[in-house]
Amino acid sequence: MKVLLAGGAGYIGSHTAIEIAKLGHDIVIADDFSNSKPEAINRVRTIIGKDFPFYELDIADKEKLRALFEAEKPEAVIHFAGYKAVGESVAKPIAYYRNNLDTTLTLLEVMKEYDCHNLIFSSSATVYGAPDEVPIKETAVVGRCTNPYGWTKYMIEVILDGAAFADKELSVVLLRYFNPVGAHESGLIGEDPQGIPNNLMPFISQVAIGKRECLSVFGNDYDTKDGTGVRDYIHVVDLANGHACALNYAAAHKGIEVFNLGTSIGYSVLDMVKAFEEANGVKVPYKIVDRRPGDIAECYADATKSRELLGWKANKTLVDMCRDSWNWQSKNPNGYDA
Ligand code: NAD
Ligand code: UDP
Repeated sequence: MKVLLAGGAGYIGSHTAIEIAKLGHDIVIADDFSNSKPEAINRVRTIIGKDFPFYELDIADKEKLRALFEAEKPEAVIHFAGYKAVGESVAKPIAYYRNNLDTTLTLLEVMKEYDCHNLIFSSSATVYGAPDEVPIKETAVVGRCTNPYGWTKYMIEVILDGAAFADKELSVVLLRYFNPVGAHESGLIGEDPQGIPNNLMPFISQVAIGKRECLSVFGNDYDTKDGTGVRDYIHVVDLANGHACALNYAAAHKGIEVFNLGTSIGYSVLDMVKAFEEANGVKVPYKIVDRRPGDIAECYADATKSRELLGWKANKTLVDMCRDSWNWQSKNPNGYDA
């Protein structure tokens, strides 16, 4: 299948490009580099070992997106293109609603014009807010978001639901990602956060390499096994493979379906620090500080539906996640910048 990866120069998109190209799909990437670097595309080309079309454009620019569809005629779209920093979304809500919703609406309009009927969307476990119970099933209540970023994901799910109801030819797969970490085993591509990382794993890696002095652990008084927050960390290559399964599912089913992509295992912040130190033989100094506003105690997936209907499950271990994060960080201390 010919697949457009919208926002495919980013962390998850670049890994997905590799996994689906490996399976024989033809890929096209479009990105405006608002949160990624051209070097990521060069490295994806190196890993795949062959060229593919790349378009530098804003997905919300309808004329440019039409020109891409005219030239490439993709049969499916994986939609990663959006802003994703929770804290920034609180400071700049309009920019988040504008970009994340506009990219989606423009894609839907142009896909329809060009008879492209398969859409995979990067949603997030954040739509569950503070869950009533863990592990979280896809049927859990959604829409108790605590920040504009989360609301954009929720709103886009609602938009896609309406679009699939109205257009019986459309196939939509919503993938609710849990916490992607790790990197491609080559160490050529990985997560390259701009400025101070918001997420735990890149922060741990930057402490280990000496870029930051100490990890602040946000609270040790949660009702969890050691008091620190528990999350479902999933290797980005496992997550990437989930998109390959979603493409097959979309090709075989009309309508809309939602899947959790997680391992179903919850690890605490201190578990992650210990695992990273042991896997890589490095020290990660940390101090306990106040809770981060908006954080929840526990969040991990029930991934049964993905296993049963997508035929997908996560295979990589916590050691793989820690080793591959460190391999990327230590080979690229400044990310994609030389
Ligand atoms: P990322 O920022 O690395 O990748 C997103 C890419 O989209 C970037 O390359 C950015 O330049 C591009 N982009 C943004 N707006 C664009 C626009 N208008 N036109 C063209 N390109 C645009 O993020 P990621 O971690 O790879 O996440 C991919 C998707 O998955 C995002 O939608 C994100 O919200 C979602 N998601 C991520 C996580 C996570 O923890 N990384 C968790 C759940 C969901
Ligand atoms: N966390 C932390 N210090 C950091 C970053 C994160 O203690 O510098 C904790 C956070 O409170 C949460 C877990 O690590 O319990 C995962 O946080 P992240 O931001 O990576 O993911 P999210 O909270 O969005 O699931």
